[in-house]
Amino acid sequence: MARHTQGYLRRHTCEVHIGGVSIGGHNPIAVQSMTNTPTMDTEASVEQIIRIADAGADIVRLTAQTPTHARNLGEIRRHLRARGYETPLVADIHFNPAAAFAAAEEVEKVRINPGNFADPGRTFIKLEYTDGEYADELRRLHDKVVPFVELCRERGVAIRIGVNHGSLSDRIMSRYGDTPAGMVESALEFLRICRELDFNDVVISIKASNVVVMTDTVRLLVDRMADEGMDFPLHLGVTEAGDGDDGRIKSAVGIGSLLVDGIGDTIRVSLTEDPEREIPVARQILAHIDECRAAANPSPAHIAGTRITATHPNVIEQVLAAAEGMPAFEVEAAYPDTMNVDDIKIAASVDLGYLLLNTACGNDIRITAPALDEKVAADLVRDILQATRRVISKTEYIACPSCGRTLFDLQDTLAKVKAATAGLKGLKIGVMGCIVNGPGEMADADYGYVGAGLGRVSIYRGKTCVEKNIPADEALPRLLALIKSDGKMPGNDEKAHD
Ligand code: SF4
Repeated sequence: MARHTQGYLRRHTCEVHIGGVSIGGHNPIAVQSMTNTPTMDTEASVEQIIRIADAGADIVRLTAQTPTHARNLGEIRRHLRARGYETPLVADIHFNPAAAFAAAEEVEKVRINPGNFADPGRTFIKLEYTDGEYADELRRLHDKVVPFVELCRERGVAIRIGVNHGSLSDRIMSRYGDTPAGMVESALEFLRICRELDFNDVVISIKASNVVVMTDTVRLLVDRMADEGMDFPLHLGVTEAGDGDDGRIKSAVGIGSLLVDGIGDTIRVSLTEDPEREIPVARQILAHIDECRAAANPSPAHIAGTRITATHPNVIEQVLAAAEGMPAFEVEAAYPDTMNVDDIKIAASVDLGYLLLNTACGNDIRITAPALDEKVAADLVRDILQATRRVISKTEYIACPSCGRTLFDLQDTLAKVKAATAGLKGLKIGVMGCIVNGPGEMADADYGYVGAGLGRVSIYRGKTCVEKNIPADEALPRLLALIKSDGKMPGNDEKAHD
């Protein structure tokens, strides 16, 4: 594999200022999260931002569905400042450029989605473009983006170009499909306009719920930016990672394995939990990377046949050195008695995730540590293999973290869906908070449970909506009935309903 840097050294990026926080350059990697309170509820939003900031976040994002929501961000910001919090705020915009313009008057940074800023949601009506039509589309995009960039320049506001797997424009889909190359081109279309305008306060993200897609695409973006002489800082995240160990392990594998190669300037761990719970996980990932970086002169690994035993905090470097010239090998990662279970889960996810994603490391991985009993160690191995898509041994959940667009208790719903579908090995089930982004962003889910309005849910098979706006209390039984009618439910489906 080609490493982008000499292990752990940050790739050079330009510096972007977001209020009092600087991203990129030689600045520490910034940690951020997003509220899930209604943006029009000023008091609840302020209280949640304070909880997130107190947990250690550097930056907080809020959804702004409309210009009215965007304007209320100013009110939230004023309340926050009055409480003594200087945390920079970011507006999250989809499908509504007018909201982006309004938000640029109120907050320090605006995130736009290239898949739906200048283009409507995907229609699939016109899938073929001649070269002339494609050029016309790019001119139309240019004309819509330039005034927004100029407003941000005037206001000293940064922009995040935030691409998500599953929400690309028809134009990109027509040429590239929903591929890493398409996601990268979607970002580059916007970055080229920013560069032409000499506007450099830009952060870029490309997220996916599939860790392999996410890491491959970010690495491709880094290469393509280098080809075009760009060095914009990167925001990393595995989107719709879910909750509990699933969400933590997927995030540590995806974010951590890029940080190992010096890629990433700000990170968000997305969990379907209270947002302040994301911050300690992000800090654990960064602490592990720092410890690896600081460890000097790693001792050699122990090699027995094709098995390499490496020790914390040099697991990756020891294995890379020992595996030189070996066509295939297995790894045992050993962690000391000074580490607790949670820290080991994060460290092992970063270390073994990196090796599984980027080297010829075989699936027979082992983790040893005094703090881990046999079952916890085996579960951790299984979850890392699933996160890297090496071995699928259980149901895969694609659950968004929820945000101000969510109109139901997503955490409770995810817990119920998980309890009812836990045995469906290999199925991918999406549990998404809103109809605006949910269907696109659950990407490759086999089935989807998507919030459609207050007390209403839509059920999807793949990308097709099969039950629209049904009452929420009927949604789970109907989802299970659909899975059963497709022959994907094992014989004990009645038990699954309990
Ligand atoms: S999919 Fe979830 S996180 Fe994304 S916009 Fe909808 S509710 Fe918010």
